[in-house]
Amino acid sequence: MAWDVVIVGGGVAGLSAGAILAKDGFKTLVLEEKLRVGGRGNSFEYKKGYIVDFGIHALRLADKGAAARVFERIGEKLEIVEPEIQKLYYKDSWTDLPLSVNKLSTTPIFTQKDREELGPALTQMLTLKPEEYYDVPVEKWAEENVKSDNLKWFLKDILTKLLLVAADMTVTSTGELFDLVQIFVKTGKGAGYAVGGWKTILDRLTETIEANGEVRVGIKAEKIIVKNNEVKGVLTREETIEANKVIAAFPVQNLFNLVEEKNFPRDFVEKSKNILPSLGISIDYGFHKKVSEFHSFMCSDPWMTATFTSNIDPSVAPPGEQLLTVFSVQPPSIIKNLEAAKKELQRIQNTIYKMFPEAKGNVKWVRPMILDIVDGAALTTTQSRDKRADAATTIKGLYLAGDTCNGEGAGGDIAFNSARRCAEYIIKSS
Ligand SMILES: Cc1cc2nc3c(=O)[nH]c(=O)nc-3n(C[C@H](O)[C@H](O)[C@H](O)COP(=O)(O)OP(=O)(O)OC[C@H]3O[C@@H](n4cnc5c(N)ncnc54)[C@H](O)[C@@H]3O)c2cc1C
Repeated sequence: MAWDVVIVGGGVAGLSAGAILAKDGFKTLVLEEKLRVGGRGNSFEYKKGYIVDFGIHALRLADKGAAARVFERIGEKLEIVEPEIQKLYYKDSWTDLPLSVNKLSTTPIFTQKDREELGPALTQMLTLKPEEYYDVPVEKWAEENVKSDNLKWFLKDILTKLLLVAADMTVTSTGELFDLVQIFVKTGKGAGYAVGGWKTILDRLTETIEANGEVRVGIKAEKIIVKNNEVKGVLTREETIEANKVIAAFPVQNLFNLVEEKNFPRDFVEKSKNILPSLGISIDYGFHKKVSEFHSFMCSDPWMTATFTSNIDPSVAPPGEQLLTVFSVQPPSIIKNLEAAKKELQRIQNTIYKMFPEAKGNVKWVRPMILDIVDGAALTTTQSRDKRADAATTIKGLYLAGDTCNGEGAGGDIAFNSARRCAEYIIKSS
């Protein structure tokens, strides 16, 4: 079989690019080294009746977001539900999470003075040019533009951490924050969840590829073959697969395990090798019974964002039971120190039991994870979108897709958006 395109990596980026190309008539082969597709977006029946994503997997901008656009591109509609009951745990009690203009103007977490400062701060976020602020840390921007400590806390610990999955405000990019706030306000959309979890996304993309190609799992690409600055194919342990278009759809930090560094410009190698991911703690709970009616909630100490996914989409848990997923973005100093990470995990679990008194006695199963990669590229000043690699490389026929590429949004958005761009480059060049 001669393949038009070989894609290394069956995460959402590889599958999205593959589905678009297969749909456009390209004979497409996806190689995935694990036994199941999905990568960090994996999603499967974890316990009987529970469809569990790999940690919270929200879709920013819901049906106006990056995954929905990939589905539109392949002529399909991704069914997405949006959370309604969103709460903030603040000073030991619950209040509405103030993320809409309406809620921001009435929330009890702000004083009148905070509110007076909030207006001008929001105006800046919505009107300044993001590209002029990619190099400015959020900490610096907040210090220079906001006086109230309470408002600084909200802008940094609630808004920025939530939207950008960012742990350290001294390095997080203000331009990336402005970009996301502007697009949220422009579309009027918040987060959404794929009905049936990301499993629905993975299954549908896989089916689309298999209508004009193949998705092979358990096959690791050992090498991407490059001769005279042109791609010639992919080497696996079993065979040499010829192709003059190859997509490397995995974090770019690992590209040089498959293609020798000497094939790329020096600055590309240095930048790509040193991209830092975001890190965090994720905990999934299956509860014997409903312990809350909330759809999602947040807390800033310990920091967490969480979703009672089965309250939004009942299909992901057995009837009468409940699925809760909690995520906490963390700095490397916690995640790289196992004792510190376990301590933080415990603190989060204790707080959950305090927030929901019925939770502790009703745990059916729990899946805690300490993760040294969440989003492939943390949205910092040194790796904001203007500095990350494009989908096309300097090697003819070699393309990149995935959440370390340049692309709008954070994490999965970048993976989906970069995949679309990568597929369009290939289509145009053929
Ligand atoms: C806990 C957690 C929560 C998250 N929450 C969200 C969220 O709410 N919203 C959101 O948008 N994003 C979220 N993300 C991020 C999102 O999961 C990622 O951005 C996205 O899945 C990245 O997809 P990818 O295809 O770029 O990379 P990956 O998922 O890393 O896929 C790369 C694939 O390539 C395979 N591979 C690598 N090397 C080879 C090789 N040599 N041969 C064959 N196969 C290979 C890997 O096995 C992997 O399957 C979250 C991530 C985590 C971990």
